[in-house]
Amino acid sequence: MQTEILAAVQQALSASQEVFLVFDRDGTLVPISPLPDATSVSPLLLCGLADLVSAGAHVAILSARGLTCLSRDFPSTSLMLAGNSGLEIISAEKVYFCEARAAASRGLISKAREALSGWLSPQYGAILEDHELSLCLHWHLVPMRFLPEVFAIVDRFRSAFGTLSVRTLPTSFEIWPPVVWDKGFGLEQMTAMLRLKRAPLVLYAGDAEPDEAAFAWVNAHRGVSIRVGSSRKTEAQFCLSSCGSLVDLIAALSLLRS
Ligand SMILES: [Mg+2]
Repeated sequence: MQTEILAAVQQALSASQEVFLVFDRDGTLVPISPLPDATSVSPLLLCGLADLVSAGAHVAILSARGLTCLSRDFPSTSLMLAGNSGLEIISAEKVYFCEARAAASRGLISKAREALSGWLSPQYGAILEDHELSLCLHWHLVPMRFLPEVFAIVDRFRSAFGTLSVRTLPTSFEIWPPVVWDKGFGLEQMTAMLRLKRAPLVLYAGDAEPDEAAFAWVNAHRGVSIRVGSSRKTEAQFCLSSCGSLVDLIAALSLLRS
């Protein structure tokens, strides 16, 4: 599988096409942990990403996490970072983008975080991640006896903050500003911010349902889409078994130009 992916990228390079390599963070570059704050980006991975940049590729992270978290995890100034699925982006040249309606909702998200923090008793074991433009409420560590109370709080939240959208994911609720957006829109914006004369070959690797929109965007733009760590039905053209396989691929990609 890795050979096929490398061949697709090599073909773009031999046609003198620029290459834009975009990676999701959790479950793709970094294994998922029950505690979101417990995951860290290894120095080996950071070196691999830096090698890609040195080899002439444009490299980016596209994650549901906030930009503050991504800037801390990926301190290299040579990477484009896209937080909140691309609602907020900082390019390698330090050009900043924030989707207008998301920016206008920043204060409301902050109020929503304060309200939820007050309503959720620490004994529930729920984890509220603040991504600044959005929130994520994880309930996978909530004991069964507290789940009805946590779900009732989410219902109360929906009534109190009707402007914000609440997406139900397998073990969490994502609280979003009133913006129609997904990672496909994120990739569109990120590619535009590269300001290239000719469309690059875009490679995107992700691991979960929210990445499917990015796979669809990449496929429509004749790029390379990779789903990591899952054999479930996917739009991605290629599958890799684990984050480790992707790290190996990154090392192999950096050698392509040499
Ligand atoms: Mg992920």
